[in-house]
Amino acid sequence: MITRHFGIPVTSPGAILRREKDLGTPLGLETDEMLQRGDLVPDKTIVKLIEDWLHLHGGYGFVFDGFPRTLPQAESLGSILKSLQTSIDAAIWLDVSEETVRSRISGRLQCRTCGFTTSVGSAQFANRPICPYCEGRLERRSDDNVGVLQQRLREYNSKTQPLADYYGKMSILRKIDGNRDRDAVFGDISQIIEGKASA
Ligand code: AMP
Repeated sequence: MITRHFGIPVTSPGAILRREKDLGTPLGLETDEMLQRGDLVPDKTIVKLIEDWLHLHGGYGFVFDGFPRTLPQAESLGSILKSLQTSIDAAIWLDVSEETVRSRISGRLQCRTCGFTTSVGSAQFANRPICPYCEGRLERRSDDNVGVLQQRLREYNSKTQPLADYYGKMSILRKIDGNRDRDAVFGDISQIIEGKASA
């Protein structure tokens, strides 16, 4: 949605790793077990992915979705951006209750190709689960189940949550109530992006 609306490239390590798995690359096959357990992938692997991606796409603004997820990743990102003579404008924290997370992942349908997300409850896609933007297949994710979610939440609470403090101290943390509907959340994210784009 951000790329479509603003033309800013967005990347997500999770999406990259799922694509690698589909392609059957060594990276995709090695990391798949971790994704299926809900464990975070080692920092070194993730940072290398982001570094390679930045060298290809990062010239004129970018958004990371699901990165950084640990303090060492955040520190590495800081150093990489410094070497590219740029820095982070905003770290957006989508604050969502566990109840909302549970309900969203239990019905999430995601486009394998572009990441567009909808819900199994959406009548529009009931008979034709095809992405309206890229014609990719809309699928349930194999790690979207209650068992794996418990581990993903444990990883989040112990390793990712501390980043709120880290970016808070740098005065770039922007907290958004993610329990609201898609348009309301997107409206807030848009304001942050527009504010930065015109700053
Ligand atoms: P996501 O698509 O963001 O829900 O991520 C799916 C899975 O990919 C996570 O449960 C992790 O196994 C892995 N992953 C994604 N982003 C990261 C990251 N920044 N650090 C470590 N593992 C990650």
